[in-house]
Amino acid sequence: MASRVLLSLSRIVKPRPPVPLFRTALRSSSTGGGIPTDEEQATGLERKTLQALKKGEDPYSIFKPKNYAGTKDDPHIVPSIGNKRLVGCICEEDNTAIIWFWVHEGNVQRCPSCGSHYQLVHHELPH
Ligand SMILES: [Zn+2]
Repeated sequence: MASRVLLSLSRIVKPRPPVPLFRTALRSSSTGGGIPTDEEQATGLERKTLQALKKGEDPYSIFKPKNYAGTKDDPHIVPSIGNKRLVGCICEEDNTAIIWFWVHEGNVQRCPSCGSHYQLVHHELPH
C-alpha cells in the first residue's frame, strides 16, 4: 500500500532542477540573492553609523550645516564634544581671509571682525 502511494506521488511531483554547487556562496542571507549590501556587511561602529543615517540622524556632523542668521537671537550653532572649539569665520562671502577664534561653552560669543554670534552646544558621539 505504501509503495503504491509513493509511486503515485512520484508521478505527480515534478523533479526539481539540479542545484548548482556554488549557489550558496553568491546568495545574501536577507535579500535572497545577489551581493550583500553595505548594511548587511557592516559591523561595529560602521553599522551604528549606517543605522543612525537611516533614521535621519547625523551622529558625526557629516551633513551640510544648517544656515543660521548669526544674530543674538539665532546664533550659529557650534557642536563640540569639549567645552571649547576653534571656529573660522568668513565674515563676508568674498573674503579670502578666515578669522579664527575660540568659542567657549556658555554665553553667545561674537566674531571679533564682523560681529556674528556663535554659540557652543555640547554634542555626544554615539559610541
Ligand atoms: Zn566674522
